[in-house]
Amino acid sequence: MAHEFFHPDMQLFIDHRVDWARYFQLLRGTEADLEAEVDTYRSILSTLDEICEDIETGALGHWHEEVRLVDGKVVVPPHIAAGYEKLRKAGLVCLTLDPAYGGYGLPILLNSHYLEMVSRADTSLMTILGLQAGVAGDIQKYGSDALKQQYLPRFASGELQGCMDLTEPQAGSDLGAIATRVTEEDGRYFVDGSKIFITNGGSGVHLVLARDGATYDQSKGTTNGLSLILCPVELPDGTRNKITVARVETKMGIHGSPTCAIEFDHAEGFLLGERGNGFRAMLDLMNQARIGVAAQGIGIAEAAFRKARSYALERVQFGQPIIQQPLVKSMLTTMALDIKSARALLYRTCAMIDLTDALAAYLKSGRDDAGDRTKLQEEYERNMQLIRFFTPLCKYIGTEVATRVTRNGIQIHGGIGYMAESVAGHYHSDAIITTIYEGTSEIQASFALREMSKGALFTALEATSEELKKLDDRFPEETRHVHAGIQAINDSLPGLMTDPSYAILNAKHVCDMMIDVVVAAELLLQAEVDPSKHLAATSFIRSRMAMVDMHAKRIQGGDVTRLDRYTKILGL
Ligand SMILES: Cc1cc2nc3c(=O)[nH]c(=O)nc-3n(C[C@H](O)[C@H](O)[C@H](O)COP(=O)(O)OP(=O)(O)OC[C@H]3O[C@@H](n4cnc5c(N)ncnc54)[C@H](O)[C@@H]3O)c2cc1C
Repeated sequence: MAHEFFHPDMQLFIDHRVDWARYFQLLRGTEADLEAEVDTYRSILSTLDEICEDIETGALGHWHEEVRLVDGKVVVPPHIAAGYEKLRKAGLVCLTLDPAYGGYGLPILLNSHYLEMVSRADTSLMTILGLQAGVAGDIQKYGSDALKQQYLPRFASGELQGCMDLTEPQAGSDLGAIATRVTEEDGRYFVDGSKIFITNGGSGVHLVLARDGATYDQSKGTTNGLSLILCPVELPDGTRNKITVARVETKMGIHGSPTCAIEFDHAEGFLLGERGNGFRAMLDLMNQARIGVAAQGIGIAEAAFRKARSYALERVQFGQPIIQQPLVKSMLTTMALDIKSARALLYRTCAMIDLTDALAAYLKSGRDDAGDRTKLQEEYERNMQLIRFFTPLCKYIGTEVATRVTRNGIQIHGGIGYMAESVAGHYHSDAIITTIYEGTSEIQASFALREMSKGALFTALEATSEELKKLDDRFPEETRHVHAGIQAINDSLPGLMTDPSYAILNAKHVCDMMIDVVVAAELLLQAEVDPSKHLAATSFIRSRMAMVDMHAKRIQGGDVTRLDRYTKILGL
């Protein structure tokens, strides 16, 4: 297998599944040279393909190397510094940033391909690059002109890196428990408090979520009254800010990614967005980070799959390569389909985010060259509803797939997969964190359920049915199964609505069912333009629609006493 960091699934999506003409028309009117723009995207990813191969080679064998704290400074292992430098020299560290500040203004779809590729090459390095564009993007959206001029070109050049400081010992999933305080003194802002588990905490710019002193007691326990503060390690006048890295954690994986405890001792900062409404601004960054972590999970899974596949081809037992054993073949195929399905959901969600960004830009502009504004406004609102729903689903499935695929990767390696030096084991140790940070899988499932209850479920099912109808003639057998899956979901809904805690109990099953039908339609759309994808689509539909039916029947049964039984089993 060629190394294919710029994966054929990415190429297919860029070539056939994005309406670039409409995207550029909305974004820029008739000015854009469509072919030239998309060719530039392809050429950026082709350049990355080569760099990532080089980064992967440089990282192999260095997985155990830890980040160190030396005289208060965070020092990353050499393979991380070298990988970052390779990307920095190529000008590829901050792709989504506006060209006015030195970025490429690349669509989210392309950025997620970039993050997937870097993650596959060295996932610890990816954590730093994921934050680079995310933090810069938040400054671009919520910062004053002065802050943008001061920091963004340095993000684009790679001189500065960033981190997001949310978590505190008592405030993990529940950010309403944040106690770090920000105080306004004569128009200046000062932060006091401690944060933990901060990825890339040694970087030059911290985006800190802190509780505003003016409403501290009233807002306690809620995400209201939080402000988003940009705290630079070096203040604009050149003096050092009062930010200390108190500790660097050692972890079970992503050893090359710095995870830090940070102390703010009346550190000066600058407000981003509205005072007391920082959670809203941080949500933008968190949503972008969720898309990034989904891509990270897929990158690790792809690396693990390739390693397992080549091992299964080489390893002979009972006189033949183990890949010929039906159970091994089945495990590998499940891994491949799992990755394809997570990709399908992520790529189409990214394409929808990009189109919606372009719609927003058009609606804000005074132009009228891209269609009826009222209709486009409706499309914008409908897309936003779907994006709020699909973003947590992407994070959930991309990272759960990473955990499953890497676990199977160990299994395929047998005993050698369990040895400390096993790369298969390293991938698994790295993959697990993706289901925890940027909101755990349980939190993603709960977010998605909340969006479903606000109507996104019906919008998504309706849109999927419409897509399928257009495919009925071409793939009658496959679409029949998926239509049946959608019907099963609809039938299960009354059972779900009997009791809110019963709905929460089933949140992951509902997410799985929704992902499966949406992905099934997407894989068929891909098969329509590339017949070589048909087999994967059919296999996916056969196995997953049976699961949809099973989950739906279980939910439909509506056994609301289940939670009570769990309470008793656990002796609570
Ligand atoms: C390596 C690493 C890097 C990190 N990087 C950053 C960073 O850069 N910035 C930052 O701010 N934070 C970061 N974090 C923190 C991370 O985001 C949190 O650890 C994560 O959100 C979970 O919070 P917690 O650890 O407090 O777990 P808890 O919130 O205590 O959750 C424990 C368990 O309870 C479950 N749970 C909690 N509430 C619910 C609920 N309502 N419904 C269902 N289940 C629930 C969770 O799913 C989980 O299984 C990082 C963490 C790690 C380990």
